[in-house]
Amino acid sequence: MLEIRNLTKIYTAKGGVSVRALDGVSLTFEDTGMVFLLGKSGSGKSTLLNLCGGLDRPDSGEIIVKGRGSETFTAGDFDSYRNTYIGFIFQEYNILDEFTVEANVALALELQGKAKDREKIQEILRAVELENFAKRKPNTLSGGQKQRVAIARALVKEPEIIMADEPTGALDSATGRQVFDTLKKLSEDKLVLVVSHDREFAELYADRIIELKDGKVISDVKKNKIAAKKASENVSFIGTDLISVKSGAALTDTDLQNIRAFIASSEKQVLIANGNADIEKFYRQAHVDENGSREEFCETKPEDIRIRHYRQDESEFIKSRLPMRHAAKIGASSMKVKPLRLFFTIFLTFISFVMFGLFSTLMLFNEKQVLGESLKVSNDEYLQIVKKYQVTIKEFNANGLTGTYENPTLTQFKESDVDEIRTAYGNEAVIAFTYSDYSIVFSIENISSQDAPPLYENQIFGFGITGQGSSYRSDKILWGKYPAGTDEVMISDYTFECLKAAGSIISPDGTETEINSFGDLKNVKISLWNNRYYTVCGVYKAQTVPDKFDDLKTGGIGQSRLKEQWETEIRTGFYNYLLVSDDFYAANEKYFTHSYQPEEIIGVSTYFKDYTYDYDLTDENNNTISLNYFSKHTENGLPLYGFEGTPLASLRPDEIAVSREVWAEWLYNAIQNSDGYWHLSDEDEHGISYYDKLQALQYGYYDDDDNNRVYLDEEKSVEFYRDIKKGIIDAYNVPLPKTEYEFANGYTQLSTTASVAGFYIEPCGVNDSWYEAAYLGDSLYDFVLHDPSNTWTEYETKYDAAGGKYAAVFVEKSDAAIDKTLDKLYHVKEDDSFFDVNSETKETIGGIVETVSIFSKVFLYIGLALALFAMLMLFNFISVSITYKKKEIGILRAVGARGTDVFKIFYAESAIITAISLVLSIIASIVLCSIINNIILQKLALPLTLFVFSPLCAALLAGIAVFTSVVSTFLPVYSIAKKRPVESIRAL
Ligand code: ADP
Ligand code: MG
Repeated sequence: MLEIRNLTKIYTAKGGVSVRALDGVSLTFEDTGMVFLLGKSGSGKSTLLNLCGGLDRPDSGEIIVKGRGSETFTAGDFDSYRNTYIGFIFQEYNILDEFTVEANVALALELQGKAKDREKIQEILRAVELENFAKRKPNTLSGGQKQRVAIARALVKEPEIIMADEPTGALDSATGRQVFDTLKKLSEDKLVLVVSHDREFAELYADRIIELKDGKVISDVKKNKIAAKKASENVSFIGTDLISVKSGAALTDTDLQNIRAFIASSEKQVLIANGNADIEKFYRQAHVDENGSREEFCETKPEDIRIRHYRQDESEFIKSRLPMRHAAKIGASSMKVKPLRLFFTIFLTFISFVMFGLFSTLMLFNEKQVLGESLKVSNDEYLQIVKKYQVTIKEFNANGLTGTYENPTLTQFKESDVDEIRTAYGNEAVIAFTYSDYSIVFSIENISSQDAPPLYENQIFGFGITGQGSSYRSDKILWGKYPAGTDEVMISDYTFECLKAAGSIISPDGTETEINSFGDLKNVKISLWNNRYYTVCGVYKAQTVPDKFDDLKTGGIGQSRLKEQWETEIRTGFYNYLLVSDDFYAANEKYFTHSYQPEEIIGVSTYFKDYTYDYDLTDENNNTISLNYFSKHTENGLPLYGFEGTPLASLRPDEIAVSREVWAEWLYNAIQNSDGYWHLSDEDEHGISYYDKLQALQYGYYDDDDNNRVYLDEEKSVEFYRDIKKGIIDAYNVPLPKTEYEFANGYTQLSTTASVAGFYIEPCGVNDSWYEAAYLGDSLYDFVLHDPSNTWTEYETKYDAAGGKYAAVFVEKSDAAIDKTLDKLYHVKEDDSFFDVNSETKETIGGIVETVSIFSKVFLYIGLALALFAMLMLFNFISVSITYKKKEIGILRAVGARGTDVFKIFYAESAIITAISLVLSIIASIVLCSIINNIILQKLALPLTLFVFSPLCAALLAGIAVFTSVVSTFLPVYSIAKKRPVESIRAL
């Protein structure tokens, strides 16, 4: 089954000298028999054996196994070939010290993917006379016993070939004989290839002796049996040099003649001996058996070799498979060698994993979830839902874009939002309208005393609509009925307390009513603005006043911090709202809309860019205005008008258009110094004076007949301007302000000339920003844009804030309401808008999110650095442990293990280390998380569970652990696993 053809192996030593260890050797082996490879040290015996056993690969030529040539073998095939067909026995036994005798033997079986068959192992141990040693460890065995374990291990695989490289080299001769006896027995039905330099043993045991010298076969002899030639009754000739004479024989003359002739022809001395014991010894020595047949070595001729021809498909290779538990056992064995190193490796790995653990909790931090949980346990009784929209702020300098960030901006609910809210939350949702500016509140005007205790201020923050089929929960109504009509309001119990504390309420006719009980409210009306009186129709239960403000109630002035907190609370809470009907809203809207201008929320930045530096527009009298917002006038720009009051299509390159407000101010200044000044109070048929009109141009609204403020739109602006132009400017020859101005960077004094061409009309009431905004002609715009000291900001949003009316929605807090809210909360709609919760909890969490991301980064970097460190430690650890395990690797490879099996061993080892680190770090992470949570809880006084070490975190950590150990193990193991088995064995 085994044939070698033209095997050549050349070793090139480091110095460059090459040795032909094997030089074109071709041999054919029979399937059974004991073949000795003889030769002096260095003659190439081991090389030949290693090549035959697939431990090494030839430089040329091939081995042919059951008809399959090794030139078609893959690297794995060599291992599989060995695993399947070869049992190796080495001079140094090469058995695994951590394994029992039985386990050593079983390993060979298991590498073949076969089950550990106790009985079979026992039987084989019996065959090598080790049946009572199964549970012994190798270090308790003698050399001969160890070698027999190695033989047992070779045998258990039932290999077709046994290869032994100087198997008795380390044994005394008696033990060596035992080993050879065993091998000899095996050679009856196996091919046993033995390397030896002991000719005597070879001649004793061999069926064939192949002698090597300098890598070449110098002799190849085969044992033949030569039958004794019976010369007579008493005398036989054995071969050509032995005469056997029967005991007590009476020799005939013929016998004597034959003997005489034999002696005469003999060149050497002839010994005639008598005595059983000596003769037996001699016979053995001379290879004569009991029948008198003598064994003799003759040159091996090809025709003498009985070979069976195999079909190629008869060769079947079994891939080795090292059982995981063995890999783990071998892996674990070296861990004891360097305990300190092991400790540090585990410790560092552990620390880096803990960092990762903390990082993962933050990375997987779910703001929505934390907010939900926190809201549920917060003191809030109502959720105040507000609306925001996302604004993208882009920063530029003369070289282009330098930064982009998002800026959520508060806005008002539109009717469509209200519908959406009502659909989601039902009719209990209280839609609130208020001033847009949180700093303004309504006061109840007609109370007698203003020195109520600090907490009880006669302020109304806004109105909640309960109409439109909505029904504020009846169990929350403390007294009275739902508001209806245009002048009924329902106050909160908090407001009721305020009224009670304030003293009394004064009617228009001057009568005062003291408020002590709900019933007293029947007789009074409260006044909110301009002496408009409203009937108090009921009292609802507002959000519970927090306990911490009890101090304030009684404590009075001096507790400004608490008071501040309370004011924040009042604005975000449902404390002092007036519940009103739809009709109320419709009828009273005009009293508050003047200070609530939806477009103003969009602001000047929608139309103009915001520059860092003020540009001063200065006239010849050194009157200066500072401008900060600029844009070129484009098609969708705001309407432009010239001084004649006619539309202006565009600006010339050096022209500038200021705001209506600025122009009105200049106009007023000009009029003041003219005769027109005396006619400013002249009224038109509606009772609106020129002065009123100038004021309206400047501030964006005027008072109508009923003293209601009316917002000044484009049409009205132009009408008013033309009236003033005709009635005052033209009529009294008021000189228009100069048009030539110096236009200069307030910071660098870089300047140019600008001529004012007219004014644009703001889309809403004016404020400082609009005052500072101007349209520029092309060259003026270039002047600003290319000013190298400049940077500017653009604001982008898809959201059109116009048309918003309601400031907030109050929903009674419930788990369901929270869930609904959370769903809406973090969902930015197509139009850039989203809902938000106005609550301290949310704000705190919002603040934490930033911290969380910072912490998360810190943990990530520390974790990464430490992981790298841990990897290096592990890398080093494995590298060191490889040197300690070279022996095991060699043995396993010789038995038939593949490179992958070697990987398994070290993966097992690093898996043990990482598993320990992982378990420790998961425990530590959980403990640390709860500690940190506690600290946060105490510091922020918020029931937050920020660090949640969820199973997902554990999974993530495990992933990282696997990655770390795989990477740090692969590199050092790769080279050793890739080695040819002979190299591993040579290291033994
Ligand atoms: P033997 O087993 O008969 O003593 P070997 O087969 O081990 O001889 O070696 C044959 C020749 O090859 C020797 O000259 C030896 O020095 C050389 N040789 C063996 N292995 C190597 C090796 N790995 N590198 C270089 N030379 C080697
Ligand atoms: Mg050798």
